[in-house]
Amino acid sequence: MSLFTAVEMAPRDPILGLNEQFNADQNPRKVNLGVGVYYDDAGKLPLLECVQIAEKQMMEAPKARGYLPIDGIVAYDSAVKSLVFGADSEPVKSNRVATVQALGGTGGLKIGADFLKKINPNAKVLISDPSWENHRALFTQAGFTVESYPYYNAATRGIDFDGMLGALNAAAEGTIVVLHACCHNPTGYDITAAQWDQVIAAVKARKLVPFLDMAYQGFGYGIAEDGAVIQKFVAAGLSFFVSTSFSKSFSLYGERVGALSVLCQDAEETSRVLSQLKIMIRTNYSNPPTHGGQVCAMVLNTPELRALWEKELAGMRTRIKQMRVTLVEKLKAAGVKQDMSFITQQIGMFSYSGLTKDQMVRLRNEFGVYGTDTGRMCVAALNSQNIDYVCESIAKVL
Ligand code: PMP
Repeated sequence: MSLFTAVEMAPRDPILGLNEQFNADQNPRKVNLGVGVYYDDAGKLPLLECVQIAEKQMMEAPKARGYLPIDGIVAYDSAVKSLVFGADSEPVKSNRVATVQALGGTGGLKIGADFLKKINPNAKVLISDPSWENHRALFTQAGFTVESYPYYNAATRGIDFDGMLGALNAAAEGTIVVLHACCHNPTGYDITAAQWDQVIAAVKARKLVPFLDMAYQGFGYGIAEDGAVIQKFVAAGLSFFVSTSFSKSFSLYGERVGALSVLCQDAEETSRVLSQLKIMIRTNYSNPPTHGGQVCAMVLNTPELRALWEKELAGMRTRIKQMRVTLVEKLKAAGVKQDMSFITQQIGMFSYSGLTKDQMVRLRNEFGVYGTDTGRMCVAALNSQNIDYVCESIAKVL
């Protein structure tokens, strides 16, 4: 008997498990469309030029690494607020936003979840069906009962909006609703602006607590366009949570750069909320690391670097869209009879391909093309070298 005799083996993370299988695969033509990572057309993880310039400048004037404030770099937090709410927006000007630097978007979600558990311990959490896998795990781990609202309808290859709205209208007061602000992961389907209005009306009427997960701002239609949903929530007079991730938009996955912003009703309330968020951070990891936050703050706050970042981000966004178009064309050319044009209606990094689990397993085992069992493929990992092979392989399993 040891202290750990009764400890059970936890299930493997499904995506990381897929990566391990991919790495062990001997097929020279193998393609990994499983992970949520943007690769350039050469199949490489980009190191953005704006990041390289910022890092070079930092190297030229090296600084000692003291502890950061608990809530992170001041210039970083203010840059996040401007990006999410608008620099001259009323909430920013009125000091109604509590923003803390976080360890990626995941860290932002976790700080928010821990804080919500403290202020509303009996609330339920609703996530979309399906959602990013970690949403359920993260809110469960924070102590909540997590349920889902309908989102994807496989039969119609689209959003079950009536189902979604019905679930929100049936939710108990205080229910926390996790919403993907843009570029829904895993389906690639976002609701329309008019549907957002209906969601907001339901959130308001039912007194729900919106938690907007914005992991892909700038990957859909543009920074402002993707952020438009935030403006709608502000205009509705709601208090809400937004988690931000720069993992993808800065291609800084390993630096863990993200944030949590909480919109409050006035400056005094904001300072109380901020003080509680700081306790969540202090008792968890004390304060965030310096490097990634400094790079992002420098890029976002320096006009030339900011312009370069926006250009590079637009480049990533455009390449993904081009890959969607090419994918549809080449699937047709490879002999796929069914209409695959829905792929170009999806947005962001992912496509729910509509392939069954059996077809996805065949793609993996026979062709070395890796996507998740649910049929999710990362369009951002396609390139001019691998797309023909991927399309021929899909055509063979369809
Ligand atoms: N939310 C969603 C919807 C995501 O797709 C991701 C990243 N895969 C995250 C949050 C987490 O982002 P980060 O890697 O910055 O923690």
